[in-house]
Amino acid sequence: MGLEPQEDIDDGTTTYDYDLIVIGGGSGGLAASKEAADLGASVALFDYVKPSPHGSTWGLGGTCVNVGCIPKKLMHQAAIIGEFVQDASSFGWDVPEVHHHWNTLVSNAQDYIRGLNYSYRVSLMSKHVTYYNQLAFVKDAHTVEGTDVFGDKHIYTCRRMIIAVGGRPNKLGCPGEELAISSDDLFMLDHPPKKTLLVGASFIALECAGFLHHLGFDVTVMVRSILLRGFDQECANKIGDFMKSQGVHFLSSMVPSSLERLPSGRIRVKYQGSGLTGEEEFDTVVSCVGRYADTERLGLDALGVKTRRGKIMSVNEQTSVANIYAIGDVLYGKQELTPVAIQAGRLLARRLFGGSSVQMNYENVPMTVFTPLEYGTCGLTEETALERLGEENVEVYVSAFTPLEWQLSPHRAKDVCFAKLITRREDGLILGFHILSPNAGEITQGFGLAFQTGAKYQNFMDMVGIHPTIAEEFTTLSVTKRSGASAKKGGC
Ligand code: FAD
Ligand code: NDP
Repeated sequence: MGLEPQEDIDDGTTTYDYDLIVIGGGSGGLAASKEAADLGASVALFDYVKPSPHGSTWGLGGTCVNVGCIPKKLMHQAAIIGEFVQDASSFGWDVPEVHHHWNTLVSNAQDYIRGLNYSYRVSLMSKHVTYYNQLAFVKDAHTVEGTDVFGDKHIYTCRRMIIAVGGRPNKLGCPGEELAISSDDLFMLDHPPKKTLLVGASFIALECAGFLHHLGFDVTVMVRSILLRGFDQECANKIGDFMKSQGVHFLSSMVPSSLERLPSGRIRVKYQGSGLTGEEEFDTVVSCVGRYADTERLGLDALGVKTRRGKIMSVNEQTSVANIYAIGDVLYGKQELTPVAIQAGRLLARRLFGGSSVQMNYENVPMTVFTPLEYGTCGLTEETALERLGEENVEVYVSAFTPLEWQLSPHRAKDVCFAKLITRREDGLILGFHILSPNAGEITQGFGLAFQTGAKYQNFMDMVGIHPTIAEEFTTLSVTKRSGASAKKGGC
């Protein structure tokens, strides 16, 4: 990648308005600014939301809080509650006919989010971080120009700068793309989306398809190539199979060729792939085809800040300009995850203002895809482990099971939950952890610690399980793929 750490030396003679200016009040920017202020730095934070092409806008807190993790998880939870309602009669509850009200969910979620927006402003104030609701432009390595909501421009100087402007959704790149909304709009849609097409096959498409289906909508996912690129493909395909079995439609190996608004208000989507073409009408089309870094018109190129495909190149979060740093989704080659942005921001602030030398570790970050069958993972995929170590040096333990919580409910599928441990054969070192199950996020967070401590297969076997739980599956995994035995598990 070619960047070398540089000395970020203060000439000691220039005075600045602030020790630190942070551009972007999302997960990373908020964390870094508050940490730096705690360490005694004078800090200003700029956050400004450019409305989506459909006019959606929101408050302080960035993607995660407003149009990402938080509304997504609340909608995922709404879907889970719907499934519990289906379970209820098998557990003895009289359940009247139930209906879901999209507008109630959106309104309650948005109220909660507005409360978070307010609490972020309060916490910045209490930490003495100066907040500017202005669109920032970097004029030079020590100067930021902010444009306020009235269009007035203001100049501020700083000793150091952190760029934390995150990303925004990509457009579809076909005629009529402006008719598609994105995750920037979906969570605050003021009407039920009804029959919906999600274009893309990764985190956002599959998560949104999952909750929309469970809220009662007719949902189709248009897949260009594979599901969840970069994830363990056995697990990714099990998610796809599960969603198909639940009634989500998949258009495989297809991309949209055009979108057209019909007199009925619906959108006609024409699509093509593998020599085939087709068309179908939808009420809502959601573009979930990745995100670009929001660095255009920030002024970085003119300063010599190196970027690749719009993302900022860095070494230890330092850019190619010594006193300009970057964290979060805007960084090239790093995970686009809230806890990664937060951790990187905090550690950077401690290094800049607290004398720390602790660097961010981007390896073995646990993560979860909140699909109907949640998928938690940490470490290597089976594909990568085999490629790096060779088949002879890798042992893969698997179990397919049905959680106790599902056993009384006829509508629940059997043996679709899945646990997989990938180990180094020579000494049992855990290389990869994968779980498909309810609450996989909660489970994976705990087991993520095993990667920090270099746990081995035998440590997992020596651990006493908590019965009856899903996580205890990892204390009894004994079937190896090499053995050819069935991964299906019997009773407890
Ligand atoms: P952001 O949170 O995007 O914040 C950047 C801020 O900078 C924004 O407020 C933006 O308006 C502002 N800004 C941009 N340009 C300027 C400028 N010139 N001047 C002033 N302000 C500016 N991650 C998870 O870990 N778990 C999840 O479950 C999860 N779910 C997600 C679901 C969806 C639908 C999406 C889209 C993302 C999800 N993510 C999830 C990813 C997570 O939201 C991001 O990784 C995280 O928000 C990145 O934080 P950040 O600080 O880098 O940027
Ligand atoms: P990703 O970049 O992960 O995936 C993009 C998807 O869109 C891929 O399936 C890709 O297919 C497909 N695609 C790209 N271009 C086209 C096109 N022109 N036509 C059709 N399909 C296309 O993006 P997401 O938007 O899903 O997620 C962005 C990031 O947000 C993630 O990397 C993740 O870090 C974060 N996130 C995290 C979540 C979590 O932690 N639970 C939840 C949601 C988001 P192909 O494989 O063929 O390239």
